[in-house]
Amino acid sequence: MATRMMASIALLIAFIAQNLTALPVQQPKTYSELPPKWEAQRIAQVGWDATDDETGYDVLHYNIEIRFDPSDESVSGHVDMLFASTEATLTQVAMHLESNMDIDNLEVDGTPATYTHSYPDNLTIDLPQAMNLGDSATVSIDYHGFPLGGGGLGALSFSEHMGVPIISSLSEPEGARLWWPCKDIPSEKSTARMVWTVPGQFFATGNGLLQSVISPEPGWRSYEWLENYPITSYLIAVTATNFAYWQDWYVTTSGDSLPLDYYIYPEDSALSLVDFADLPDVIAFFASVFGEYPFMDEKYGHAAFPFGGAMEHQTLTSYGASLITGTNAYHWIMVHELSHQWWGDLVTCGTWMDIWLNEGFAVYCDALWIEYDEGWQAFQNRMNYFKNSYFQSEQGWQGRFPIYDPEYMWGGTVYEKGGWIMHMIRYVLGEEDFWDFFLEWRDRYAFDAAVTADLQQTLEDVSGEDLDWFFDEWVYMAGYPEYEWGWQSTPYGADSSIVDVSITQVQSMLNQTPLVFTMPVEIGVTTTVGEEVHTLWNNQREQNFSFMVAGTPTDVEFDPDNWILKTAEETGYVFVPTQPTLPGYRGPVLGLGPNPANPNTQITYILPTPQQVTLSIYNLMGQKVATLVDGMQPAGLTQINWDGGSQASGIYLVRLETPTERITRKLTILK
Ligand SMILES: [Zn+2]
Repeated sequence: MATRMMASIALLIAFIAQNLTALPVQQPKTYSELPPKWEAQRIAQVGWDATDDETGYDVLHYNIEIRFDPSDESVSGHVDMLFASTEATLTQVAMHLESNMDIDNLEVDGTPATYTHSYPDNLTIDLPQAMNLGDSATVSIDYHGFPLGGGGLGALSFSEHMGVPIISSLSEPEGARLWWPCKDIPSEKSTARMVWTVPGQFFATGNGLLQSVISPEPGWRSYEWLENYPITSYLIAVTATNFAYWQDWYVTTSGDSLPLDYYIYPEDSALSLVDFADLPDVIAFFASVFGEYPFMDEKYGHAAFPFGGAMEHQTLTSYGASLITGTNAYHWIMVHELSHQWWGDLVTCGTWMDIWLNEGFAVYCDALWIEYDEGWQAFQNRMNYFKNSYFQSEQGWQGRFPIYDPEYMWGGTVYEKGGWIMHMIRYVLGEEDFWDFFLEWRDRYAFDAAVTADLQQTLEDVSGEDLDWFFDEWVYMAGYPEYEWGWQSTPYGADSSIVDVSITQVQSMLNQTPLVFTMPVEIGVTTTVGEEVHTLWNNQREQNFSFMVAGTPTDVEFDPDNWILKTAEETGYVFVPTQPTLPGYRGPVLGLGPNPANPNTQITYILPTPQQVTLSIYNLMGQKVATLVDGMQPAGLTQINWDGGSQASGIYLVRLETPTERITRKLTILK
C-alpha cells in the first residue's frame, strides 16, 4: 500500500476532516504517515492479532457471495470455506468475523453447527464430526450487517463521487473480517470465487477473471469473478460504481499478452489515459528483473476508489481517484503498487511483523524503476529523498523502533528505511548476487508467504555469507549509524602515500539503536594521479585504518556512492590510542529504551571483558523489584527485554554492578 505524503500532523488532521478530492496537492514524493481511518479505530480497540488462533486447518477455496446495498450501507453474504485439517484430530475451527455482523445460518457440510461469535471478531465453530489429518469439509455461513467504518475509509466503504455511490474495500491488514468471515492471516492462501451483487447501474470489479454477469433480481446485477491463483484474505477486494472502462495490453518478450483493465470514474477517464500510459513499460522492466508478471493467465489493472493512496489488490490495484491527475504526479504510486504484484501478492509477508518485506521491497522498486528509466543520479536523488523522509518520520510522533515487528506499520521506518535496507543488501551482496536473489526468492516462496528469517536464509544461501550481523543491527534493532570521520596522509617513498582514516560512531543507544553498526565503508580517494576506492570493515565504535595509495591525496570522501543509511560528518582525524578487547568503551556501558517504558523496555549492556555482573531493578524506596542477571557474563553486547507490567507506573532504577563499577540509570514506567 502507498499513501501520499502529508507535510505535518496539522495537515493530517485536515486530511481526515476534508473531502479527499478537495485536498490541495501536497509534495507528491513520499509515503504517507496516514493509516486508513478504520485501522486507527481498530488499533485503538484491540490492536492486530499478534498471536493468532486460526490454526489446525488449511483453507483450500473460498466462495464469497455478497450483496452490497449502498442505500443503507449494509451487506448480506453467503461464504463457503473449503478447508482441510492439518491436525490428527480437529474438533474446532477458529475464524474471524466482526462481532457486529449477524450470523443467520452456519453449517458444516450441510449439517447445522454450534459456534461462538464474540467481541471483537472471534468466530469459533464446533465441528459436528471430528476431522482427521487431511480430511476436508466446507463451512457455510449466511450473515448480514453494517460493516464497521462504512461511509468512511472503511475496510468496506460506501462513499460517493460526483453524487454517485461507490462501494470499495481496503482490507489490509485485518479488515477482511469486517465484511466477510475468513481465516484472516496473510500466510493463508487459497483460490477464491467472488460474486458481488450491486445495484444494476454499477459495474463491480474483483480479483482474477470475470466469469459471468447475471441479474438475480430486477435492478441488481451479480458479477462473478474467479481468482485461480492463490490469494490471501487481505488482497480480496471489491469496487463498484458507474465506472468508465478502457483496456490496454502488456506483451511479453515471448509474445504472450496480458489485458490491462482500467475502471475509472467517468469524470477522470481522459486523465487516466495519460497517467497510466507507460504501465506496459514498467511491467516489462519488472518482468525482466523479477521474472514474468505473476498472474499472466488473468489480468492487471486499476480500479479507482475514494482513498488518498492505493492498494495492491491481487491482479487489480485499487487506485485513489484523487491520484488521477493527467500529469503523472503519482506515477511512483503506480510503480509501487505494480511491484507489489511480485512482492506482497506473489510472495506475501508471512506475518504483520514482516510487513517491511512488502513495503521495503516496493519502495526500493520505486527507486529501481527510476534508476532504469532516468539513470543513476535520479536514483540517488530518490534514495536521498527516502532517507530524509525516514529521518523526519523518526523525529516526529512515530519515533524510533526496529523495522521488524514495528510499532507503526505505515510510516517512514517500514517504508523508506525498508527501501534502504534493500539498497544496503545490494551493496553488501554485490550486483550479481543481489539480482539472483530475487529469482531465488520467487522460486522458494511464489504463491506463498515468507518471513524475515526466510529472507536472511535466502540471502545467505545466494551469497554464501553469514548475515547475522546485518540483520541484527539493521532489521532487529533500530536507527542508523551517525559517523564522525577524518583523514590524514603522509608521503611514502617517491610516488605513494599512506592514508590514515578514523571512523567514530556517535549515535546514542536510544530505543534499541546498536552501539556499533558493523558495515563495510567505502572511502574514495582522489589523488594527484587518479581515483581509488578502499573498503574498510568498520566494526568498532572508534576505529583507525591505514592504507596506501598511489600519488598524493587531494580529497577523501566517505561512502562516495551513498550506499549506507547514515549521517556522516568530517570532523578531523582522531587517533584511537588503545585498542582494548572492544575498543571504544573501556568500562561497562548500560543503555535503556524505550524509556519511558510502557511497560516493556530493552536493557542493553556492554562489557569490555568477561566479568561478574549483577543487573537489578529497584523502586525509589530502595526495594529490589527484579534481578535480571547475576553471574559471570561474556564480553560484548547483551540485551534483555524487561516487562514492567507487574510494576506500578513511576520511576525505577536499573543498576548494573561489576566488581569495579556500579552504573545506575533511571527508568520510567508509564502505563
Ligand atoms: Zn505498498
